[in-house]
Amino acid sequence: GGSGATQSDRQRARMRLSLQEHLWEFYQNNVNIPTEEQAVARRAALDICAELRVFLHAKLPDMPLREMYLSGSLYDDLQVVTADHAQLMVPLILEKNLWSSIPGEDTIMNVPGFWLVRRENLEYFPRNSSYWDRCMVGGYLSPKSVLEVFDKLVAGSINWPAIGSVLDYIIRPVVPSETLTLEVQYETDRKLYVDFLPLLVMEDGTSLIAKPHRLAAERHENLWRQSFRVAETARLRALDQEDGGCRCACLKLAKAVCKLNPALNRLNASQLTNTILLLCEKEGDWTQEALADRFLQLLRALVGHLEAGRLQCALSPKVNLFCELTEQEVDELGYTLYCALSDPEGLLRT
Ligand code: GDP
Repeated sequence: GGSGATQSDRQRARMRLSLQEHLWEFYQNNVNIPTEEQAVARRAALDICAELRVFLHAKLPDMPLREMYLSGSLYDDLQVVTADHAQLMVPLILEKNLWSSIPGEDTIMNVPGFWLVRRENLEYFPRNSSYWDRCMVGGYLSPKSVLEVFDKLVAGSINWPAIGSVLDYIIRPVVPSETLTLEVQYETDRKLYVDFLPLLVMEDGTSLIAKPHRLAAERHENLWRQSFRVAETARLRALDQEDGGCRCACLKLAKAVCKLNPALNRLNASQLTNTILLLCEKEGDWTQEALADRFLQLLRALVGHLEAGRLQCALSPKVNLFCELTEQEVDELGYTLYCALSDPEGLLRT
């Protein structure tokens, strides 16, 4: 009768304790990046950013850009395993009266979270009134064409070997690359990948990035991707700050598990962050002692979202953060995580 249940309760408690210990051990040994390594990687990215600013100001003084800046997990202390990538944000300046944004759900593609940027007033302000008219395709600002402008510059007209030798790095554009990426070798065994990410900040504060929709490329070619990264990262951090919680640690563990486990590579930081944010709405205990419970709950939540084929963005419920996964990918991710529920420690043996 009763004693059986108690025994299995005790066994479950023991297993949780050991998972808890293993998670923190894994966190220290595999997930967290030494401060020094982060600093060197940030330095290398900053050096490149400075060179590019000088180059663009000199070569294209009339290109309407705001100052480029670096961003990403390397700058939020959310990068895991190795300090090996960063984004170089390139904010374009658009004339307010010449361009307007249309949400994806109001277009024939019907994809919330993506936007079209339409050229307005062509009759009064004809083509070439705006610098960015050169990137107009079928009446819309084409992210692909914007990327091509930078690709020509960065891959074509910058003397990277010369700049690299001054900075003592080996720098080369990655080809082929869907986004525009520089590979920077800053130590014999250390490489950093820097993505160029052209960015539009619309009048209402909406951030749109030139990162193409993964599926049905042709049809979706003119779509800009709305970025929630700044807001979702800030929300997670703020919640942790209020109660000294382990949400960021939990996110970093999950990111590392997905990075080290090929079957889980498709899950990205945004999907994991939003799954945690949704969990926070119904679960209050994020103390360090609850890490193992919350980690398991995160896995279960992911399995649930994958079963539903839908993960809503915590900041914009219309957006389905799984919309770029194929059905097969959804199934495979779901299966892998479902199996992991009965052996979560297996995820840490990579
Ligand atoms: P990590 O790359 O998994 O460590 O996660 P990050 O949090 O650094 O996210 C980087 C990814 O988010 C890249 O694929 C970017 O293209 C994408 N992304 C979307 N919006 C933003 C943004 O505002 N800033 C940066 N840095 N990346 C963004």
